[in-house]
Amino acid sequence: MSTIRFLAPVLRRRLSTACASLLDPVPWTQAPVSRVSPAAESLFHVSVDVSHAPRLASSHTRAGQYLQLRTPGAVWPTFLAIASPPARAAAEGVFEFLVASVPGSTAERLCRLKRGDLVELSAVMGEGFDIDQIEPPEDYPTVLMFATGSGISPIRSLVESRFDAARRSDVRLYYGAMNFRRMAYQV
Ligand SMILES: Cc1cc2nc3c(=O)[nH]c(=O)nc-3n(C[C@H](O)[C@H](O)[C@H](O)COP(=O)(O)OP(=O)(O)OC[C@H]3O[C@@H](n4cnc5c(N)ncnc54)[C@H](O)[C@@H]3O)c2cc1C
Repeated sequence: MSTIRFLAPVLRRRLSTACASLLDPVPWTQAPVSRVSPAAESLFHVSVDVSHAPRLASSHTRAGQYLQLRTPGAVWPTFLAIASPPARAAAEGVFEFLVASVPGSTAERLCRLKRGDLVELSAVMGEGFDIDQIEPPEDYPTVLMFATGSGISPIRSLVESRFDAARRSDVRLYYGAMNFRRMAYQV
């Protein structure tokens, strides 16, 4: 039986947290929030300025990639898909997110931040959508995309990345939301 089991619960929790942060393998980059604005009911557009972190910005190479984000004082980070296309990170040094404000979560804390507040970002993760598999467009005329709620975020990145939609005869997006008030990216 390990010694840690005999420690008082509070001490045990603090020790576990300290060990967890010592072992934290994630490299974090601090970056300022440049925009938080409503996107729909309980959904927010959040932009983070990564112009001072060009390596992080340029590691966003494909729609569908995601990262972890920490807000000041939050216990855990939250995973977020990057809603903007990679070209925007390269040209403007910005990552955009579509965030559902879940009560009590890190995401809710993020949605309450103001321009200039600092957050921490992990490295960009995931392979993203392998759109090479649907190239050339003439051979893959049909593309069906499915998303619900904030899951539209990586699809928005894909749509804005352009995947030769104009050269395909049948490109469809099926987007589920509880109602129109909860639907982001309406024109
Ligand atoms: C790849 C990916 C992409 C996502 N993209 C988006 C997006 O674009 N927009 C969006 O709004 N949401 C996105 N999400 C969902 C988002 O990450 C959260 O799940 C959501 O905000 C709800 O947060 P939560 O704290 O309630 O739940 P979760 O973060 O799912 O955590 C559930 C519970 O587990 C516990 N917990 C969490 N982390 C830890 C930890 N490190 N150690 C111990 N306990 C922990 C906490 O008690 C927490 O309440 C994505 C999730 C994934 C996996």
